Amino acid sequence: MSVRTGLGVDSHAFAAADAGRALILGGVAIPHDRGLAGHSDADALTHAIVDALLGAAALGDIGQHFPDTDPRYKDADSLELLRAAVALVRGRGLAIVHVDATVMLERPKLAPHRDAMRAALAGALGVEAGQISVKATTGEGMGFVGRGEGVAVMAVATLTQG
Ligand code: MG
Repeated sequence: MSVRTGLGVDSHAFAAADAGRALILGGVAIPHDRGLAGHSDADALTHAIVDALLGAAALGDIGQHFPDTDPRYKDADSLELLRAAVALVRGRGLAIVHVDATVMLERPKLAPHRDAMRAALAGALGVEAGQISVKATTGEGMGFVGRGEGVAVMAVATLTQG
């Protein structure tokens, strides 16, 4: 059996408060006065996990499979992209063992939504919630995260083959 690890990183800027965007992270709508800007639903957590999966499978990156110039992905539900990525890695004979992610944002607090995000992500990944970890941290006032301009996410996926 071989073990493979993939890294995913994504960031999205907050849209203006009057832009009518929902804040979606890990497939969950999180109450906030503004959402993230992007071609799809701008779910940076799910995007980072897609890239972690693709990375572990050495299958390129999210932009290659789901280009943000493609009208099919306009306002797309990123959990659909995640399901498609899962099908790609499973098609290579890989099984998802674990995903760990850290969301960096100044506010809102994500802790009340952590289990809902884990459940939504586990459902799309076809694994148990106990195999999904979602953590959050702030930028301590520094950089674009700290100034509240956007969200950054890092994710790691562990897959096995054989
Ligand atoms: Mg993205």
